[in-house]
Amino acid sequence: MTGITAAQKLQEVSALLAVPNSRIIAGGTTFSQNTEEDLHPVSISGLEGLDSIKQKGSRIEIGPLVKLSTLAENDLIRACAPALAEAAGNVGTPEVRSRGTLGGNLAGDRVGDTAAALLACGAKFTIKTDSDYREILIDRFWNPAGKNDLQYDEWITRITIQIPGDPYTGAAFGKYGVWGQTSEPNAAAAVRLCLDGNGRVSAIRGGLRLGPSFIRRMFPLEKALKNRAPTEENVDKAVCSMLSAVQGQIGEEAFSAFLKDIVQRSLIMAQERRAL
Ligand SMILES: Cc1cc2nc3c(=O)[nH]c(=O)nc-3n(C[C@H](O)[C@H](O)[C@H](O)COP(=O)(O)OP(=O)(O)OC[C@H]3O[C@@H](n4cnc5c(N)ncnc54)[C@H](O)[C@@H]3O)c2cc1C
Repeated sequence: MTGITAAQKLQEVSALLAVPNSRIIAGGTTFSQNTEEDLHPVSISGLEGLDSIKQKGSRIEIGPLVKLSTLAENDLIRACAPALAEAAGNVGTPEVRSRGTLGGNLAGDRVGDTAAALLACGAKFTIKTDSDYREILIDRFWNPAGKNDLQYDEWITRITIQIPGDPYTGAAFGKYGVWGQTSEPNAAAAVRLCLDGNGRVSAIRGGLRLGPSFIRRMFPLEKALKNRAPTEENVDKAVCSMLSAVQGQIGEEAFSAFLKDIVQRSLIMAQERRAL
């Protein structure tokens, strides 16, 4: 790794990234001195205005430099996107969370845990291109092989989530195994759902990360629960519908218990809010 170039202005980052072998460095938790010898890191950590969490009407805008520890403890995130707070609070060690940023968790070579929670929230990313900005729904940010949509001179400048309009919303996140392990299976999943006045599931989104590169919406689970009463039988069917996605990687029983716990915790949260 050669010397770090510190970007002074947001506008100059794309040009710096156009230099061969350049790569953004944010919290730097995934870089070591031994990382690829000719790698040329471009630090964005000194750029102003990229480390805030702000409510703008019905949206929450999160800067890519927000630390995972901040995200985990932020009152707005805990109230409106509890699965994201849970995901951030479960990344690595306290040291990794106090240095690691949300942008770095999303844009690394290995898909990070917050991706599952943000998929469940239906987040949007704002991406700085060489001359402009573009927005992308998180559903389209990774291709089926887990490669993200960023071009060599593009980077994430904002993560936006919608505050749920429905008061009876619940969300939960869970982790299976140890992130980064190659010898053992590992996964992260999150669910966000809303209940209508009759206690039926009126809206649901789920995100699943499996290993370093599989990151998808949990469409079968969503379809199995949407517009249905969340009875034990329906929850079991919904969880079962996801087994083919993890076939051969995580045992059926273990994965079912893992996912059922997440669905049940989101239901309990929504039911408690409904009872208030
Ligand atoms: C011991 C250890 C345990 C870990 N455990 C976990 C875990 O449990 N779960 C988990 O998800 N992760 C884990 N990680 C991975 C990592 O530390 C986190 O994902 C962290 O959030 C990365 O953030 P960073 O700011 O340090 O990113 P950096 O290391 O600075 O960058 C990571 C990557 O993202 C790119 N990048 C950074 N910011 C941007 C941006 N705004 N736009 C575009 N590209 C960008 C960089 O170019 C680089 O490719 C662990 C790491 C370590 C060292």
